[in-house]
Amino acid sequence: MPGFTGHTVANSVALVGTSAFMYWQGWSLQDIFFVDTGIVISTLILSPDMDLFTSKPMNGWGILRVFWWPYSKLVKHRDRLHTPIVGTTVRWLYTLGLLALLVLLFRFWFRRIGLQVEFSFDGDREDIIFNLLYVLDVYIGAAIADALHFVLDMFVREPRRARGNRRALRREPDPSLFGE
Ligand SMILES: [Zn+2]
Repeated sequence: MPGFTGHTVANSVALVGTSAFMYWQGWSLQDIFFVDTGIVISTLILSPDMDLFTSKPMNGWGILRVFWWPYSKLVKHRDRLHTPIVGTTVRWLYTLGLLALLVLLFRFWFRRIGLQVEFSFDGDREDIIFNLLYVLDVYIGAAIADALHFVLDMFVREPRRARGNRRALRREPDPSLFGE
């Protein structure tokens, strides 16, 4: 892969280009903002490189990256989930799953300490549909970022130095790294 910096630079250019294009196409500023949010999230937080436990986006999660350990173990680096749309969807669902798990744990914990907290979503139906459209914007942005990541990974080979560093980090030779 072209490295975190390469991906960030490329995605930043894509962010500016996409924003200009949407503005020209008459998208609302809110829509543009949410698409951009999707691009930023998929570049820094939910990058396709989450399949590598030592990647920069993974490090950004700090201690929380333990939640991504199963993902990085199950998904082979640069395998099928490195592809846009498929990978994007799986990673976002994985995140939703994590959030749902946290909510469940908190509910359980609140009940144990005798706290009654209602988690209800009684918003207007129109409100929900309206917000879903923004979720779609974020998703579009994420898919754009992931697509660019994929293309860049395909055309730019990882520099040897970076490979060596990563192997050193893992403290073990990983044959899969040579196949990149
Ligand atoms: Zn990659």
